[in-house]
Amino acid sequence: MSISLDIANANVKTATKPSLVGMDRDDLMAALEELGLPEKQRKMRVSQLWNWLYVNGVSDFDQMTNIAKGLRQQLADKFDLSRPEIVSEQVSTDGTRKWLFRFTDPMQPNMPPVDVETVYIPEEDRGTLCVSSQVGCTLTCTFCHTGTQKLVRNLTAGEIVSQVLMARERLGDYPGGERPTDGIVPRAGIRSVTNVVMMGMGEPLYNYDNVKKAMLLMSDGEGISLSRRRITLSTSGVVPSIPKIGEETGVMLAISLHAVNDELRNELVPINKKWPLEELLEACRNYPGLSNAKRITFEYVMLKDVNDSVQDAKKLVRMLDGIPAKINLIPFNPWPGSQYECSSWAQIEKFADIVNMAGYASPVRTPRGRDIFAACGQLKSETERMSKKERDAIAAAE
Ligand code: SAH
Ligand code: SF4
Repeated sequence: MSISLDIANANVKTATKPSLVGMDRDDLMAALEELGLPEKQRKMRVSQLWNWLYVNGVSDFDQMTNIAKGLRQQLADKFDLSRPEIVSEQVSTDGTRKWLFRFTDPMQPNMPPVDVETVYIPEEDRGTLCVSSQVGCTLTCTFCHTGTQKLVRNLTAGEIVSQVLMARERLGDYPGGERPTDGIVPRAGIRSVTNVVMMGMGEPLYNYDNVKKAMLLMSDGEGISLSRRRITLSTSGVVPSIPKIGEETGVMLAISLHAVNDELRNELVPINKKWPLEELLEACRNYPGLSNAKRITFEYVMLKDVNDSVQDAKKLVRMLDGIPAKINLIPFNPWPGSQYECSSWAQIEKFADIVNMAGYASPVRTPRGRDIFAACGQLKSETERMSKKERDAIAAAE
């Protein structure tokens, strides 16, 4: 699909209203100051707004019933609360749900909207939301569908957190909300979204500030209130940012390892040329707060005759010796045009046995949502990067 921009008639909207969704307490304070609210009222109003935004998930200022009408109007004049458009919502035969959300950046209303995929993986006792951090990816891991899509842009903190807010709304997690009757949700008494994994489209550590801010919003005890132990950031190995994200957020870490020698990893996960295995493993060893209760997950995609030999399995467990680790073997999920095949089940079992014998429990991740292309590494939106001509036209119009 190509973006059609009528350059001559570009409808230039100049009014930009920043969204309150994605703001932290300091941002909300500043927003209220901008409205001219007296200083002594601001703290109370921030906590009211916080509650409406992140506990109740409202998308309309009129729902903020404990805020006077006049102030609600002032807020609505200056700020935005709008949600992304739901382009599609698909439910897999196994209960997995995938949304395609369309975001328009309220600060840049002339830029084309972007489409973002978010996946919900329900189980009896938990519900995991797989959240995207970028549209496309700058990296080109050869087995990943997202890697074939050029980076369109980073998502803002508000867009990242909105994926969680939207899922919670659709899945009945807000006070008074109703759970859907199709698909699956965890059993009664357990909220629909209990875990978040930053494993959707994009490399989260290449959108550091926005991802960090969004994860802090998700884990805020007075807001969305997901435990940091239930938020996992997956990275292909942006080594310098690994200690930083650990110190600044305390979330769980997953590493897309996929190979046990530099030669193969350079090919599968090309960022390895910049930060090879030794440096990556060193950063893992030093990840803040590691213990047997807080382990790093090493993800390993099973590619037939590429990285799935018994020798590879043995080297894998040797390599991780001394790091509190979990190993996740991911059966390769094919996508149109992919050059790999998934290892046979017999080979995956052989590999898993060696990993099991080394003390790692149940290492094979069951693929979910394959029929709706919602499984790991299958996410890719149709949004295209603008051509230089289109970008120049927008810049000229602004
Ligand atoms: N960019 C981050 C997070 C997104 S990818 C990262 O690379 O870690 C989430 C996980 O899915 C990663 O472990 C990735 O390597 C894996 N993955 C990508 N394509 C896949 C595919 N086709 N089949 C199985 N897993 C895949
Ligand atoms: Fe990007 Fe992760 Fe896919 Fe690699 S695996 S291309 S880093 S999304």
